[in-house]
Amino acid sequence: MKKWIAALLCLLLVTGPVLASERFEDVAPDAYYAEAVAWAVDQGITNGMGNRQFAPDQLCTIGQALTFLWRACGSPEASIAQPFSDVAETDYYAGAAAWAYENGLVTGPELGAARPCTRRAMVTYLWKLAGSPISKNVETGDRDWNLLLVNPWNAIPADFSVDLQSVGGGHSVDARCADALTGMLSACRAAGYSASICSSYRTQAYQQSLFDQRVAARMAQGMTRAEAEAVTARSTAVPGTSEHQIGLAVDLVDSGYWQLDSTQASRPTQQWLMAHSWEYGFILRYPSDKSELTGIIYEPWHYRYVGEDAARTIYEQEICLEEYLEELDTFSLAAAWARETGITTSSTDDSFRPNENCSRAHLVTFLWRALEQGKLRLP
Ligand SMILES: [Zn+2]
Repeated sequence: MKKWIAALLCLLLVTGPVLASERFEDVAPDAYYAEAVAWAVDQGITNGMGNRQFAPDQLCTIGQALTFLWRACGSPEASIAQPFSDVAETDYYAGAAAWAYENGLVTGPELGAARPCTRRAMVTYLWKLAGSPISKNVETGDRDWNLLLVNPWNAIPADFSVDLQSVGGGHSVDARCADALTGMLSACRAAGYSASICSSYRTQAYQQSLFDQRVAARMAQGMTRAEAEAVTARSTAVPGTSEHQIGLAVDLVDSGYWQLDSTQASRPTQQWLMAHSWEYGFILRYPSDKSELTGIIYEPWHYRYVGEDAARTIYEQEICLEEYLEELDTFSLAAAWARETGITTSSTDDSFRPNENCSRAHLVTFLWRALEQGKLRLP
């Protein structure tokens, strides 16, 4: 047996490292990731999927991506206890998860290891590991029209204007999302449910009258003006900070139940909308567990158009718009660093396809460029 191993070692020394294409049937010798795969195997980062398969196109989960990254860094043991409530010590990614938390790559309290890892997330992990370098060539906060952030802390810009389009029933929205809205409502009907628009675009004057009415009603019940305004602002946006004023938000109700209360959430129509709105570029804007970030109570009827790309990511990652935009800003910095160091060859943030899920081929290529080619100096 020992002789065999010695003979094999000799052979390796003579022939050099094993090519990935010899080890794996599904890695072509000229594939862009072939060298990265060979390196990853040599480093003990992966052994492939068994049966001479590497599965280059298979999509990575967060758990897999962090494990590869952790192994690439030498599998360092974290000096903290497992911080994630959804990670068991027996999970293969437990060590990687604690290490990633300790190094600020991910935050708690849950990891969501089974969620898909986007290309954005992967490059952001590497950037954070490099010490979050700030590029001089990046300005964050420049947003596309569909990602305009309006909340209690971000008022509508003074120069804002919108082209409206009627969607029937006396309602109108920003013309650029009207087709998406009517498409979603028809699909909802075709699936056997019925949603009605109960509120859409509002002018400043209308938002003001809504807000004033609700404040007056609360004052009539004995609240002071300050109390009434504070309570009202949690569910009816202060004029100038309502998404309804930018024409990208609609309140949708089950056609058989028009009350705007939390029981909307259990109506089959709302459940269909919650499960499918992202396909049309809409998100449930105020989820139950994000009120601290959105400033607005759980509203299982308020849908906001953000575009299909953003809606899909927000839905899949179960985050709110505020969190998504913060990720985008972080990503702009991470992407600039990745371009400047040569970890990516994409010339712009968009051409990098940040929302696409990271495949195993992408993952080993990023790691290889970052670590093997010395683009990332580990702390
Ligand atoms: Zn609303």
